[in-house]
Amino acid sequence: MRDSSFARLHAMIQYKSMLKGIEVVDIEEAYTSSVCPICGGRGEKHMRTFTCPEGHDLHRDIVGAVNIRTKQRTGRIEPSPIPRQVTYRTPVLCAG
Ligand SMILES: [Zn+2]
Repeated sequence: MRDSSFARLHAMIQYKSMLKGIEVVDIEEAYTSSVCPICGGRGEKHMRTFTCPEGHDLHRDIVGAVNIRTKQRTGRIEPSPIPRQVTYRTPVLCAG
Protein backbone atom coordinates (compact mmCIF):
# COMPACT_ATOMS: atom_id res chain seq x y z
CA MET A 1 0.00 0.00 0.00
CA ARG A 2 1.35 3.39 -0.93
CA ASP A 3 2.33 5.70 1.92
CA SER A 4 -0.38 8.27 1.15
CA SER A 5 -3.06 5.57 0.99
CA PHE A 6 -1.81 4.05 4.24
CA ALA A 7 -1.74 7.45 5.95
CA ARG A 8 -5.32 8.15 4.83
CA LEU A 9 -6.49 4.70 5.99
CA HIS A 10 -4.71 5.20 9.33
CA ALA A 11 -6.37 8.59 9.80
CA MET A 12 -9.81 7.14 9.02
CA ILE A 13 -9.30 4.26 11.46
CA GLN A 14 -8.27 6.71 14.19
CA TYR A 15 -11.25 8.95 13.49
CA LYS A 16 -13.82 6.16 13.43
CA SER A 17 -12.29 4.54 16.53
CA MET A 18 -12.38 7.85 18.38
CA LEU A 19 -16.11 8.14 17.63
CA LYS A 20 -16.64 4.71 19.23
CA GLY A 21 -14.30 5.39 22.17
CA ILE A 22 -11.75 2.86 20.99
CA GLU A 23 -8.05 3.58 21.53
CA VAL A 24 -5.79 2.96 18.53
CA VAL A 25 -2.24 1.83 19.35
CA ASP A 26 0.46 1.65 16.68
CA ILE A 27 2.70 -1.42 16.96
CA GLU A 28 5.88 -1.96 14.91
CA GLU A 29 5.22 -5.11 12.90
CA ALA A 30 8.84 -6.25 12.49
CA TYR A 31 9.21 -10.02 13.09
CA THR A 32 5.58 -10.43 14.14
CA SER A 33 4.91 -12.92 11.34
CA SER A 34 8.18 -14.86 11.60
CA VAL A 35 8.25 -15.90 15.28
CA CYS A 36 6.16 -18.79 16.57
CA PRO A 37 3.73 -17.51 19.24
CA ILE A 38 3.73 -20.96 20.90
CA CYS A 39 7.46 -21.72 21.33
CA GLY A 40 9.21 -18.50 20.22
CA GLY A 41 11.15 -20.23 17.42
CA ARG A 42 11.81 -18.62 14.06
CA GLY A 43 9.57 -20.20 11.47
CA GLU A 44 9.13 -20.56 7.75
CA LYS A 45 6.27 -19.08 5.78
CA HIS A 46 4.71 -20.86 2.82
CA MET A 47 1.66 -19.33 1.20
CA ARG A 48 -0.71 -18.61 4.13
CA THR A 49 0.89 -21.14 6.51
CA PHE A 50 3.61 -20.67 9.12
CA THR A 51 5.67 -23.63 10.38
CA CYS A 52 8.29 -23.45 13.14
CA PRO A 53 11.18 -25.90 13.80
CA GLU A 54 9.10 -27.48 16.60
CA GLY A 55 6.38 -28.35 14.07
CA HIS A 56 3.71 -25.83 15.01
CA ASP A 57 1.62 -25.16 11.91
CA LEU A 58 -0.49 -22.04 12.08
CA HIS A 59 -2.19 -19.62 9.74
CA ARG A 60 0.15 -16.67 9.10
CA ASP A 61 -2.53 -14.12 9.97
CA ILE A 62 -3.03 -15.77 13.38
CA VAL A 63 0.73 -15.71 14.02
CA GLY A 64 0.92 -12.00 13.20
CA ALA A 65 -2.19 -11.07 15.17
CA VAL A 66 -1.17 -12.98 18.32
CA ASN A 67 2.37 -11.58 18.21
CA ILE A 68 1.12 -8.00 17.72
CA ARG A 69 -1.28 -8.47 20.67
CA THR A 70 1.56 -9.83 22.82
CA LYS A 71 3.91 -7.03 21.77
CA GLN A 72 1.30 -4.44 22.71
CA ARG A 73 0.79 -6.07 26.12
CA THR A 74 4.40 -6.87 27.05
CA GLY A 75 6.53 -4.71 24.77
CA ARG A 76 8.12 -7.70 23.03
CA ILE A 77 7.37 -10.84 21.06
CA GLU A 78 7.27 -13.86 23.36
CA PRO A 79 5.33 -17.12 23.60
CA SER A 80 1.69 -16.43 24.37
CA PRO A 81 -1.57 -18.38 24.41
CA ILE A 82 -3.22 -18.51 21.02
CA PRO A 83 -6.98 -18.66 20.59
CA ARG A 84 -8.40 -22.14 20.01
CA GLN A 85 -10.94 -20.72 17.64
CA VAL A 86 -11.00 -17.54 15.64
CA THR A 87 -14.28 -15.75 15.29
CA TYR A 88 -15.11 -12.68 13.31
CA ARG A 89 -17.27 -9.90 14.61
CA THR A 90 -19.91 -8.30 12.48
CA PRO A 91 -18.46 -5.01 11.22
CA VAL A 92 -19.68 -1.88 12.97
CA LEU A 93 -21.47 0.29 10.46
CA CYS A 94 -20.94 3.99 10.91
CA ALA A 95 -22.90 6.62 9.08
CA GLY A 96 -20.79 9.11 7.18
ZN1 LIG B 1 6.65 -23.28 17.58
